[in-house]
Amino acid sequence: MKTKIGLLYGGKSAEHKVSMQTALAVTRAINYDKFEIHPIYITDNGEWVKGPRLDAPAESVKALEFSQAALPSPGFNPAVFQSEEASLDVIFPLLHGPNGEDGTVQGMLELLNLPYVGNGVLASAAGMDKVAMKNIFAQAGLNQVAYVSFIRGEWEKDRETAFIQVEEKLGYPCFVKPANLGSSVGISKAANREELRQAFEEAFQFDRKVIVEQGVTAREIEIGVLGNDEAECSVAGEIVPKKDFYDYKAKYEDGDTALIIPADITDSQYEALKTQAIRAYKALDCSGLVRADFFLTKEGDLLINEVNTMPGFTPFSMFPLLWKHTGLEYPQLIERLVQLGIERHEEKQ
Ligand code: ADP
Ligand code: MG
Ligand code: MG
Repeated sequence: MKTKIGLLYGGKSAEHKVSMQTALAVTRAINYDKFEIHPIYITDNGEWVKGPRLDAPAESVKALEFSQAALPSPGFNPAVFQSEEASLDVIFPLLHGPNGEDGTVQGMLELLNLPYVGNGVLASAAGMDKVAMKNIFAQAGLNQVAYVSFIRGEWEKDRETAFIQVEEKLGYPCFVKPANLGSSVGISKAANREELRQAFEEAFQFDRKVIVEQGVTAREIEIGVLGNDEAECSVAGEIVPKKDFYDYKAKYEDGDTALIIPADITDSQYEALKTQAIRAYKALDCSGLVRADFFLTKEGDLLINEVNTMPGFTPFSMFPLLWKHTGLEYPQLIERLVQLGIERHEEKQ
């Protein structure tokens, strides 16, 4: 019997296109002697459409974009999870950002009692909210930059207090971020009060909650974690953005950010990285995978920046490349994740 994978991709988010590329790559990497793919496409309008079963790689992204004409009703449609022959064995959500990586889809899959790849509700939700995530990291004793957070109402009522808090606790430069996003959307660096004001206005366009962090000058080192209760780490990699910081354009448009794998760090730095990545993994109760991202300062301090519970997953993204260098090729990585998703579901029963 082949394992029936419900591949969930697309989505109503800034990362729709990335998700499509990832879905195409996954259909190309799967061993069709063992697996069959049942595509579930979320259009950029947020409509859920089930596509015909795949027994061979999709030809192009276009071939994975199904028309919604046949849908009985627009929007989310739980019927997409029913396959003609039998129920799906596992759902593989290839979605990033809000309504994909933040626990909402994971909660729905829990209610449907379907096994799924990757993190559960708590880890996904906490990993998406940078304030909740950093509070949990602090509790777990992980080193990180100083931060403060504000909700829109507080900011609108009293901007002066927000400025003073940031200046007293953090100073300049600081980074202002919407609490619940990814891909650097809405993030700015502020070097003075006027830039801080603009950065707040920008970030509040995307979220009602904003985090402000002390800016550090540091190398950006990332590591992959894979597993459930027992998790293992990949080799480390370094991101070298050509720009001032690793913004949306550098991530998805310029393509000239260098990924250096393995990162040129000492053995003891690598050991510290692994220890802290696993501590972060446990603190958030992660399962399946995360990419844990750190800052390494000139002084040698290792600060955790974030974990991404559904990191970029094309064959050219950091997470799969880290595992490739660790000895796990893309098709085997996919199989391992599917297996971990099924195991986690069985353990819960
Ligand atoms: P996202 O979840 O959108 O990737 P990050 O918190 O990773 O958000 O920030 C995006 C990028 O901005 C980082 O990769 C880094 O280049 C830069 N950055 C973020 N926070 C800081 C900080 N406190 N100090 C220095 N650079 C930062
Ligand atoms: Mg992120
Ligand atoms: Mg990041």
